[in-house]
Amino acid sequence: MKPLEEARSEVLSSVPLLETEQVSIWESLGRILAADVISPEGVPPFANSAMDGFAVRGADVASPGSVLEIIGDLPAGFQSDLVVRPGEAIRIMTGAPMPSGADTVVRVEETLSEASKVTVNSAVDLGTAVRPAGGDVTRGQTVFTAGTRLTPMHVGVLATVGVAEPEVFARPRVAFMSTGDELTPVGEALGPGAIRDSNRPMLLALLESTGAETIDLGIVPDDPGALRAALDRGAEADVVVSTGGVSMGDYDVTKLVLEDDAHVDFWQVAIQPAKPFAFGRIGRALFFGLPGNPVSVLVSFEQFARPALLKMQGARAVLRPRLMARAGETLDTDPEKTVFLRVRLEGLEEGKPTVVKSGGQASNVLSAAASADGFAVVPRGTGAVAAGEDVSVEMYKWPESREWRDDR
Ligand code: AMP
Ligand code: MG
Repeated sequence: MKPLEEARSEVLSSVPLLETEQVSIWESLGRILAADVISPEGVPPFANSAMDGFAVRGADVASPGSVLEIIGDLPAGFQSDLVVRPGEAIRIMTGAPMPSGADTVVRVEETLSEASKVTVNSAVDLGTAVRPAGGDVTRGQTVFTAGTRLTPMHVGVLATVGVAEPEVFARPRVAFMSTGDELTPVGEALGPGAIRDSNRPMLLALLESTGAETIDLGIVPDDPGALRAALDRGAEADVVVSTGGVSMGDYDVTKLVLEDDAHVDFWQVAIQPAKPFAFGRIGRALFFGLPGNPVSVLVSFEQFARPALLKMQGARAVLRPRLMARAGETLDTDPEKTVFLRVRLEGLEEGKPTVVKSGGQASNVLSAAASADGFAVVPRGTGAVAAGEDVSVEMYKWPESREWRDDR
């Protein structure tokens, strides 16, 4: 059996980097930057008011009770030609450019105005409530580096600095299929002995959430001719992912068809679930032969396909973050394998989240993977983790806030 880390580095070392392209920020969510983003503009572009109030000279409001002459009105989106001289103030709105002469804004709540006079009730420090030009980002600053995966916040910053079309890596085109004579698509009646094809809809979702463009090759029966035809179609893509048929059974057609292929290897990876796994090339496409059981699909996708797809897109970080938690119950595992248990974060205990199994741990019990927040990863050679001991958790989602309460 191949240790997980060895299998993964073998996979990652054969992953090519995709081309780059420019994409509109409106379609950039989840894309990975191919070049550093250097801000062409300062943010904010000009010094402006952080509050609704009065733009004044700091020296005039150093002590409470000063009375100033209001010489104008300045809403956001306009620039004033007026100059604030000693003893003067301009009524200013949040976001309006600071008029010349003024260096301080007094909040409207601290003032009393009547006709053209304003009384400032308190002493206000020089520079209060002014956002300096370039205070967030300076012109020429590197805001993001290549390899950053764009989140909604990154998209917002790109707009802020005036970058409409960032340079990103292309999306991988991924052809995917389920194999198995027993599979019926959702929406059709189940015949005798048939089960639902849950892998394909889940794979589509996993692929899309990893930035891929998908090509659905459908359900492929356990028939060598049908499988070859599907693989031929898939070979046009960057990546082909199949599920099922990679074990030792008589009907494991993926294995039967590809076993003698010089470009595909069949591995036994020392993980549980998802021990059988095939990896290689079909034509110019990378090939991932995932096992059939849905939880095994999830685990092998997360451990191999996702990091590979992110690496193809130039991502700096290809592995999900892990956090240290405390086992809320005994976690018994096979010491020969790195075991991925589906666990849920409970509350905090002494500042550390506690995890418990989210349900049945058999590789067909997908419901427990859906109610889990991640995998408790028990490394090979460990065996049991006793209740109260530390365990590392690979988070694939964050708990819904109502289910996971901290001390707030
Ligand atoms: P296999 O590796 O093809 O023998 O599949 C292992 C187990 O996973 C069997 O119980 C299959 O019925 C099940 N399985 C295979 N493909 C799917 C699928 N697409 N959706 C749900 N279960 C599946
Ligand atoms: Mg099968």
